[in-house]
Amino acid sequence: MNRKTVFLLCTALLAACGPRELEPDARYECERCDEWNEPQEPFRVHGNTWYVGTDGLSAILIETDDGLILIDGGLPQSATRIDASIRALGFNPLNIRAILVSHPHYDHAGGVAAMQRMSRANVFSSETGALTLSSGRLGADDPQYVADTDEGSFPPVENVTAIGDGEFVSVGSVNVKANYTPGHTQGSVTWTWESCALNTCLDVVYADSLTAVSAAGFSFGNSGAADRMIESAGKIADLPCDILLSPHPFFFGMYDKLERREEGNPFVNSLACTFYAESALDWLEQRLKSER
Ligand SMILES: [Zn+2]
Repeated sequence: MNRKTVFLLCTALLAACGPRELEPDARYECERCDEWNEPQEPFRVHGNTWYVGTDGLSAILIETDDGLILIDGGLPQSATRIDASIRALGFNPLNIRAILVSHPHYDHAGGVAAMQRMSRANVFSSETGALTLSSGRLGADDPQYVADTDEGSFPPVENVTAIGDGEFVSVGSVNVKANYTPGHTQGSVTWTWESCALNTCLDVVYADSLTAVSAAGFSFGNSGAADRMIESAGKIADLPCDILLSPHPFFFGMYDKLERREEGNPFVNSLACTFYAESALDWLEQRLKSER
């Protein structure tokens, strides 16, 4: 049975294939989880690009001529919020064809399994990211890995497709490029695509986290993670970039920009990726000082 047939069947049998499967596998508890999972009104960023995440965890919807692309799934308990935001914009979450993941941590990949089960979409990540997503557990080389605990684990995702650095995920006429940007995790991916409106096409960058945070005992300086982070920051600064988005809304100044929507489109800023990379390097420098 091909995907289209499955989709048509699911549409016909909505009760059997629909939202009941969205029930999250688990809740994840953390100090800031409730705050991050507060609802956020969905909105159009530009052209084909929409924000459907929560108050503190991004999820991005890309509209194509042959279905939808979703980037990131927040916490396990964020899936129902993302689903509601997609519907509030007038889109059908059952039309999601591809789910892309920035990096496999509980706060961005936690809701992916539920969104995949509901939509039957293909899930894409980097080669390292695909291994972590499939197991639902952090690898021992992850800065946030804590030995012999369940800390950081999330609902595992089935059938993850690994996408190589520089390769594309295509849905309809939209091509989203995978740019490997390891550092925050080994499996980090920055996704880039084009968004057109009123005959103007802009480059959108969903830059992965570049924050040097870890569990106790991990060294960015001695593990090679700092070198990877520096290289990734340079890569993000060099990307064609008109609009910066990232896994946490406060990294791209979402709240402030939403306040200024009367003044044109404040999300358009061709220097945003450079600033993002520079502040990541400042943060890393502080971190390396504290490690010495
Ligand atoms: Zn993370």
